[in-house]
Amino acid sequence: MRKDYLDTYQHKGFRKRLVELLRTKGITDEIVLEAINTIPRHFFLDSAFDKIAYEDRAFEIGANQTISQPYTVAYQSQLLQVKKNDKVLEIGTGSVYQSSVLAEMGAWVYTIERQKKLYDEQKNYYLRPKYPNIKFFYGDGFQGLPAYAPFDKIIITAAAPMIPPKLIEQLKVGGMMVIPLNEGDIQRMLRITKMADGSIQQESFEAFSFVPMLTGKQD
Ligand code: SAH
Repeated sequence: MRKDYLDTYQHKGFRKRLVELLRTKGITDEIVLEAINTIPRHFFLDSAFDKIAYEDRAFEIGANQTISQPYTVAYQSQLLQVKKNDKVLEIGTGSVYQSSVLAEMGAWVYTIERQKKLYDEQKNYYLRPKYPNIKFFYGDGFQGLPAYAPFDKIIITAAAPMIPPKLIEQLKVGGMMVIPLNEGDIQRMLRITKMADGSIQQESFEAFSFVPMLTGKQD
């Protein structure tokens, strides 16, 4: 647990450096970079991580899960081409960092987590009052949220064994899904666009490494 939620000049300086690093790695979407520059990533980690919270790496957050690497979060957010007021479904809430980036970009975020322990912790998420545009759900991401469909965008933040058909159903025509799809031991980042006839178009990007997307809920 954190002792305090102070965002000091030193933290702000670390964030600026992280944003510059992400630029050199090829992130160009200014709205994504501004969101990363705004959100205190150290709030999502134990106080012990304060000095390293802005390194471009993933961290364990308990329950065998991770807070994704900033480059990965920026990369997926950029591919998603988020517009203000987009309705976005996220699979894998985890630390809520990716959800917060999308919320800061002006999206309405519907995020699902399959682990009860993580979902319960998200109730105490410190920035929750700042982002009333994030709605939290406990459930299995393979099922999506039919009651809230269709979505403009869908982002999967765990390694998917296949393209979940129910999620394609819940995507608007012209909508896009960003999904790290298993390819051997790594995942290939795909962007899928739903066409007017219900078929999908796929674009293929860099390889990444995620924790697995698992079926069913966990108490
Ligand atoms: N977006 C998160 C990444 C967390 S890691 C962040 O920014 O921190 C991936 C998360 O996906 C884990 O919390 C894991 O429990 C969750 N997950 C895995 N399979 C899932 C599924 N089928 N439905 C919902 N969440 C799932």
